Amino acid sequence: MNGAIDGQAALRRQSRQVRIGKVLVGSDAPVVVQSMTNTDTADAIATAIQVAQLARAGSEMVRITVNNEEAARAVPAIREQLARMNVDVPLVGDFHYNGHKLLTDVPECAEALAKLRINPGNVGAGTKRDPQFASIIEIACKYDKPVRIGVNWGSLDPSVLARIMDENASRKVPLDAGAVMREALVTSALESAAKAESYGLPGDRIILSAKVSSVQDLIAVYRDLARRCDYPLHLGLTEAGMGSKGIVASTAAMGVLLQEGIGDTIRVSLTPEPNGSRTQEVVVAQEILQTMGLRAFTPMVTACPGCGRTTSTFFQELASRIQNHVREQMPLWREQYDGVENMTLAVMGCVVNGPGESKHANVGISLPGTGETPAAPVFVDGQKTVTLRGGNIATEFQAIVDEYVATRYRKKAG
Ligand code: SF4
Repeated sequence: MNGAIDGQAALRRQSRQVRIGKVLVGSDAPVVVQSMTNTDTADAIATAIQVAQLARAGSEMVRITVNNEEAARAVPAIREQLARMNVDVPLVGDFHYNGHKLLTDVPECAEALAKLRINPGNVGAGTKRDPQFASIIEIACKYDKPVRIGVNWGSLDPSVLARIMDENASRKVPLDAGAVMREALVTSALESAAKAESYGLPGDRIILSAKVSSVQDLIAVYRDLARRCDYPLHLGLTEAGMGSKGIVASTAAMGVLLQEGIGDTIRVSLTPEPNGSRTQEVVVAQEILQTMGLRAFTPMVTACPGCGRTTSTFFQELASRIQNHVREQMPLWREQYDGVENMTLAVMGCVVNGPGESKHANVGISLPGTGETPAAPVFVDGQKTVTLRGGNIATEFQAIVDEYVATRYRKKAG
């Protein structure tokens, strides 16, 4: 189950399963985290470095744009560079407008990719659309590559929209404009998938997405898609935005759908802060899945928000220090210990909820609030084991966490 928590998978919508390199998507496979680079793909070294960063942060697939011939020719070099860096994450190529030409002219690009993403609204206009779409599907079949048919409301196929609008106009009670747009998105995805199958792509090589930037529209579109097909669904709120707005909007939309068992792979489309790390979108995606109890990636730190009972920021600093320590240690711990990602930690600010919350964690500390005796009881698996005092509390608590990992989790063989 690759870390899916028992019982949760039973709630998932039953979809087909698609293999993308070493990764399974759909059916009973855990929900897969993916991300996308923002480097110039033609710069193979810069792109490989960012792919490696995203993979090391926990992205289980990484998409790169393939927008011109230089980018297409760089893809095998990116794959080779990743191999030298010991990174085997599947690469997904994102194609718009000229994908048929790039994949025909640079077949080694298709070979180096684990999956192709095509947008039916951007494969070509008018009479060129179908042959260009067919050409990409034929290449996918030839190189045995799965395809994500990724519809986006910003680039919706105008011919589908026009047809759905005509059909709507002849209804006794026409749908409103939003419902027409949502129906056009779903129709475009489903008809494109049917067409791909008619061109020879097996149904278990197809993943669908239909992204919009409004939370309510996304929920409605994916509920409809989930009802009308059994392809695995790639979930994501497109153009989610920057900072807390992007995180909240993505979480609100995906949380509802994941809770209903809808969604087999997710991407959080955050706009990075200036000089911010691209890997933030991976951390957010993992935290959505982990806080919902769908997967476990890294130990979670529970910390109280603090209030008037705490006059110092010491507990905030300790919570931050422990969270950072755990994230830094996790690559090593993951290699050495089985199940460490399920560990829970608590850093609390006073006696009101501190001891209670700390007892629920594997390792918890209840720091003294204003006016309390300057002592910090530590709880391990619900039992008070020691009371820390003085200026070394942070270092001593961190050592207790390290000791817990080393003694509680089974060492991996080798
Ligand atoms: S645990 Fe104590 S310090 Fe933290 S929010 Fe609750 S009352 Fe305030």
